[in-house]
Amino acid sequence: MRIGIIDADLLGRKKHRFPNLACEKISGYYKDHGHSVELVLDYNDMNKYDKVFISKVFTDTQIAPHIIQADNVEIGGTGFYFDKAPALPECIEHNMPDYHLYDEFIKKSIKVTKKPSQQQFRFYTDYSIGFLTRGCFRKCGFCVNQKYNHVFMHSQLDEFLDHDRKKLCLLDDNFFGHPQWKMLLQKVIDTNKPFVFKQGLDERLLTEEKCEMLFSAKYDGDVIFAFDNITDYDLIHKKLKIIRKYKGKKNVKFYVLVGFESTDAQDILNAFKRIALLFRYGCLPYIMRFQNKNDMPWKMSEFRSLYITLARWCNQPSIVKKMSFRDFCELNQEVHKNKDTLCSSMDAMRKFEKRYPDIAKYFDIRFENR
Ligand code: SF4
Repeated sequence: MRIGIIDADLLGRKKHRFPNLACEKISGYYKDHGHSVELVLDYNDMNKYDKVFISKVFTDTQIAPHIIQADNVEIGGTGFYFDKAPALPECIEHNMPDYHLYDEFIKKSIKVTKKPSQQQFRFYTDYSIGFLTRGCFRKCGFCVNQKYNHVFMHSQLDEFLDHDRKKLCLLDDNFFGHPQWKMLLQKVIDTNKPFVFKQGLDERLLTEEKCEMLFSAKYDGDVIFAFDNITDYDLIHKKLKIIRKYKGKKNVKFYVLVGFESTDAQDILNAFKRIALLFRYGCLPYIMRFQNKNDMPWKMSEFRSLYITLARWCNQPSIVKKMSFRDFCELNQEVHKNKDTLCSSMDAMRKFEKRYPDIAKYFDIRFENR
């Protein structure tokens, strides 16, 4: 069979730079069974394939309805089905991913990019990618991970480890929630390859033992956790004290979810309270604005501009480490072209401060480099 594979996020999102693991596994399986497989980079000529698999991870990646209705097309992924995405057949799920599916795309992109940078393609070229465990018991309302109520073994490391690749990227949903996390982590460490848990780790499950092992390992890049809910404040505070003992010079980052429970002043206050706590322990916040298949509540909020400015401030480590929220808004104002008007950041900050001076005291908090 002639098989086409479409990574819809790659086609629909300009800056998207992460391989679709399902696409790589489908490719690996069909190539191993003697079929011709290629990555398709547009929707123009799909009839020449006997079968076209289209996968997407993000719900807001656009794709025309007539494309997915074609007879030779099969679709999959959380981008189409959110938390109801059907699993791949077992034989494909446990096939070695085809890490060369994107080779031609990368070659072409490097030729046409003004500033060719291998770095932007590193997850396609340098990493073995997979899940050691799957599932999570927490069932956070904003998460696609609703199918299971426990963490279970998913793949042996050998199933997706390519010894020629320099690094390992693990996509586990809640790795530390598995009873055998220690044995699994040791196996990862024993590969001697730098590794990263791309989806973040559950800091509520951290212990001295976990921190010691994690922070002394060859971790690749920032160690990422999540501080989604203000009600976890005291628990996270305790865990931050443990993290501080072991983190050394490693960058520790926490996703800070906003716009989920509400998009009012209380939500802004909750965000700043979490940011302030993280700053005290030398940890970086990363603002995640909630969105699901159907909507992005923050976009409808009266504080839309404030949410945008908050994310622009927090999500640039070189900025958030150096300046307060107020400094950042003032900097935006300085470079604003029309000096007679306020830039959107300054305008949003001033309006909020006028109405909520008590919350606005957080506009002056600073990152503490500990
Ligand atoms: S802990 Fe993480 S993986 Fe588990 S449900 Fe919550 S957000 Fe999802």
